[in-house]
Amino acid sequence: MRNCDHNTVEYSVDSFIQSLQLLSVTEPCSLCGKVHPLKLHSCVDRSYRDPKSMEDVWIKIPVRYCRRAKALGLQSTKRILPDFLIPFARMRLDNVVDAERERADGSTVEKCCRIMGCIDLRTVRMHLKRLEEAAKAVALILAERQAAAVHLHETDEILRPLAPLERLEKLLDRQSEGQLRAGDGRCRPVTLRSLLQAEQWKKKRKPLTSYASRPPPDA
Ligand SMILES: [Zn+2]
Repeated sequence: MRNCDHNTVEYSVDSFIQSLQLLSVTEPCSLCGKVHPLKLHSCVDRSYRDPKSMEDVWIKIPVRYCRRAKALGLQSTKRILPDFLIPFARMRLDNVVDAERERADGSTVEKCCRIMGCIDLRTVRMHLKRLEEAAKAVALILAERQAAAVHLHETDEILRPLAPLERLEKLLDRQSEGQLRAGDGRCRPVTLRSLLQAEQWKKKRKPLTSYASRPPPDA
């Protein structure tokens, strides 16, 4: 999965909604926990920093609505973030992952700045640190899960000296192999970014910036 060219994720709100509709056939609703067709409330503005232009790019992201959650008195709408974004932050997760890989290969923080499209060294270091923490946390969960199912996973390989992100990627590969061994073809393979993003959502009470309150330039 390691790539020298940085793979920037192409995004369109229509294809994102289509993939969410497909997922809603098997995946439980994030608001009520039941499997049911996706219902959208609206689409809202969201921005990210584009490293090439060094400017903010505005996109639309969907907001889910759940009637069941509303009837139960629970939160009934929720923004759905594509997996290349970080909750409450302008930097793109795919760019931060690329930057972290470069850093693990010995690149300077300045190069990481260029990859992320950020001129503030402190912000870049903070994002790299948060990514490393998220990678460690997710790797720990996967390692424990795999240790509890030794019959499904090769455990002779030593992963400890690896950088956290690389270690997590190896554990993810091992997880997918384990799923195949278990004959669980129905299981959707989890992706690196979706796991890292989910881990960063857990910390959403501590927003990275005051970002979410910023309106789009033409609003
Ligand atoms: Zn629901």
